[in-house]
Amino acid sequence: MSNILKIAIQKSGRLNEKSMGLLKECGIKISNGGKLMSIASNFPLEVFYLRDDDIPQYVAEGVADIGIVGENEYLEKDQLVKIVNRPGFSKCRLSLAIKREEEYTGLQWFEGKKIATSYPVILKKFLEQKGVNASVEEISGSVEIAPGIGLAEGVFDIVSTGSTLLANGLKEVEVALRSEALLIANEDLTLEKQNLLDRLLFRIEAAKSAKQNKYILLNAPNDTLQDILGLLPGMRSPTVLPLADKGWSSVHSVINEDDFWEVIDQLKEKGAEGILVCPIEKMIV
Ligand code: ATP
Ligand code: MG
Repeated sequence: MSNILKIAIQKSGRLNEKSMGLLKECGIKISNGGKLMSIASNFPLEVFYLRDDDIPQYVAEGVADIGIVGENEYLEKDQLVKIVNRPGFSKCRLSLAIKREEEYTGLQWFEGKKIATSYPVILKKFLEQKGVNASVEEISGSVEIAPGIGLAEGVFDIVSTGSTLLANGLKEVEVALRSEALLIANEDLTLEKQNLLDRLLFRIEAAKSAKQNKYILLNAPNDTLQDILGLLPGMRSPTVLPLADKGWSSVHSVINEDDFWEVIDQLKEKGAEGILVCPIEKMIV
């Protein structure tokens, strides 16, 4: 059966829930029966549950057609796959950290020192680019304890809030890379599989734009209506309907989540009332 798209998803861990959530937002129903794999009931999609480390290789070899993996793993494994979408979750950075009591003097601090990491490929590239000679100690987990036990002077690891570093007496001194989840694909998909992927990407984009935007409804006095419309770009242009109360109009539009508080303050200044802001489930533009 070739006309089914096979997706590799992290079996358990930080990417699993968001990856499954993404498929759900795309309207794809997956029974949670299988441990290793399951099949969607309403889209030709087969889901493989794997360790995230293995996903780039499985996709490169065509065992899976597509996969969701952190940019950090994608770069570390350096397999021949293409990035087809950035779904917008699992944002983190890969940083160098040292003991809190050390005085940091810039990247040269690491010259001749030992750095523990699970990302030797990315770290070596970074050090080479910066012209720093340090030795890279590859360990597979709990990197943050390395300085405390005398294994290395520095660590190179994933940081999001910095609380793990803090708990281990470390401080972040350099950010080498910003990472987020990626949807990757095999480089030689058949036409049928590419068509399925295009359908999936269309749904992902619709779910993504829905999340980035809000539906806004408000009542506007007609004498400031033009100012208010100027604040609301809308998808094409805002919808304006007369209210039963003469002198007022009802305005409907879509605004970007990021602009939303700023715009709302300006709308209130212009006399807008009864402002409702609603989530959008899907948005096809
Ligand atoms: P596996 O058992 O599948 O190998 P893992 O332990 O290697 O899992 P996780 O800790 O589950 O990996 O992290 C998976 C991915 O999630 C990371 O490669 C990274 O891209 C991202 N990630 C890790 N930590 C964070 C964080 N604190 N915040 C946001 N994203 C993160
Ligand atoms: Mg892993």
